[in-house]
Formats: sequence, structure tokens, C-alpha cells
Amino acid sequence: MRIVALAGGIGGARFLRGLQAAEPAAEITVIGNTGDDISLFGLRVCPDLDTVMYTLGGGINEEQGWGREGEAFTVKEELAAYGVGPSWFGLGDRDFATHIVRTQMLAAGYPLSAVTEALCDRWKPGVRLIPMSDDQVETHVVVDDPGHGRRAIHFQEWWVRLRASLPAVAITPIGADEAKPAPGVLEAVEAADVVLLPPSNPVVSVGTILAVPGIRAAVAAKTVVGVSPIIGGAPVRGMADACLTAIGVETSAQAVAEHYGADLLDGWLVDEADAGVRVEGVEVRSRPLLMSDTDATAAIARAALDLAGELS
Ligand code: GDP
Ligand code: CA
Repeated sequence: MRIVALAGGIGGARFLRGLQAAEPAAEITVIGNTGDDISLFGLRVCPDLDTVMYTLGGGINEEQGWGREGEAFTVKEELAAYGVGPSWFGLGDRDFATHIVRTQMLAAGYPLSAVTEALCDRWKPGVRLIPMSDDQVETHVVVDDPGHGRRAIHFQEWWVRLRASLPAVAITPIGADEAKPAPGVLEAVEAADVVLLPPSNPVVSVGTILAVPGIRAAVAAKTVVGVSPIIGGAPVRGMADACLTAIGVETSAQAVAEHYGADLLDGWLVDEADAGVRVEGVEVRSRPLLMSDTDATAAIARAALDLAGELS
């Protein structure tokens, strides 16, 4: 079976681990969000690609859900001693090595897709991980900043430094309009038996991937099943509600499915808490959606694949 999944960071990576357990023989291609990417200390950091790579490759900090396990922060402390920031973005010593390798390869002229493949040679995530695009796309957030007026800031500054405490006026993937899908993205979607939307952030993870011209149409032509990241009117983890509010979408499993649209989605898994949800043109099923451990997550992935099988 050939499966394509569009993934952000933590929600995507955890779902993918369950998917691998549910369908070990499947050929899985992951199209990763790069809208969260940021340059720090001269290094290119791709948080969502790395979260998928570390999670599936066995290097993730499990409690945190991002970054490496057994991490130290000597480099960060030394940078701070020079007064060089930002201090709000956590980069550990082990993680730094990944960003150094990536930046060196990018500077040598390799596209991000080739760099990601090279990094995965070490981690062996068991999936083919492709960035959505080799072209730079950066999600920016427009905020009304007391004292500074209305200004656009990088998504990471809003999310990590401000913890989304300033309401977003707009969220825009800068560069997405002109970006091209990375080599292999459209081919993988076309060859897929099913496309899955893990419970990743519908705005700044899955939404950003779908904003790259060509990807949404290719995905919509397939059997697509999504898993709701919203349970009982709230995100399970993080602040996805702040992103949904910014684009005028209610924080509910139903509104997220309607936002994706019946032209894109064929099936939608919601939690038992949302069993009453109906979406016109979409087959909705309810079941427990908490990814509490790999077994529970594998059962969610199994349910998504079974629903896709019924609908294809
Ligand atoms: P990020 O890039 O690290 O923010 O991660 P993603 O975009 O891939 O996923 C974030 C989303 O995962 C959030 O909106 C959460 O609501 C969702 N999420 C996290 N844990 C769970 C879970 O156990 N079940 C479900 N259904 N969603 C979850
Ligand atoms: Ca992310």
C-alpha cells in the first residue's frame, strides 16, 4: 500500500509513528511543512521536518515532543554570554549539529529536499520525508503589538516567544504563491492509494502545505481521510485555536472539516466527544482520538486506513 501523509510537527510525527505500527509494510511518503522554518544564528532550522525525522528515527525528546533527547544547551548559553540571541528559541547542542549540516549543504547548492534526504540517511525514519517545497516559504503573523502598532512577525516569534498571546490579525505563508512542490511531491500523491491528513495544525501545518500551488488539487483527486486535531472544541495540545480564530474558523472538529472542504476530504475521523458531528459530503466516523501511546495511535491510523478503503 502506498500512503501519503501531509505532516506538521508533533501531531504529525506522533500519528506517523502509529501509522507505521498499523501498516508496517506500507510505503509511506511524508510531505513536511516548511512554513515554520527560520534562520537563527546564521543556521537554517526546519522544526517540523526535524520533529518527524527525530520522532520516527528514535532521537526525539519524548516528553517535550520536539528536540533531541539527552540534550545539553552549552552552545546556547555561550551565545547568550556574548549577548547573541534570540534566547526564546530552544536549540540544544545535538540539535545544532543538524542545523549546521543542513546549512552547509544548502550553502553548497543542494536543495532542501536533497538535504533532508541526506539527514534521513542517518536517522532512517522508515518513511520518505520530502519538504513540501525547495522554495522558501515562511509563515508570518500580523499582530497589533502595543507600543509597536500593527506589524508582521515570523510565526515562531508569535508561537514560541509570545505563546500566541497577541491575537493574530492575519496568518500568511509568505512565498507560497510562487513556490513549487519539491521534486517527488506530486508524483508521490499521484501514485498514492490514500492520502492522510494527520491531526496536525490545520492552518500553519496542513494549510501551509496545501497553499503550495498544485498540491491541493493533486491531493483532492485522491481518497483523502483526515484526523481531527480538535477534540471537544479545543486543541489537544498547543494553541491551534489561536490560528483558527485568525482565519475566521471556529475551533471545532466540524468547522475544521468544513474548512478543509468536501472537495478535499472524503473521510473525517472525530473523537467520541464529537460523535454528533456531520459534514455535508464527508463521511464522518467517531472513535477515541487521543494519541496516548503507540497502540492507541496505531488504532487511529488503522481506522483512517479502513475508512479510506471503504471510500475508495
Ligand atoms: P506542531 O507543528 O509541532 O505544532 O505539530 P502539528 O501541527 O503536527 O500538530 C499540532 C496539533 O496536534 C495540535 O493542533 C493538537 O491539537 C494536535 N494533537 C496533539 N496531540 C493530539 C492527540 O493526541 N490527538 C489528536 N487528535 N490531536 C492531537
Ligand atoms: Ca510546526
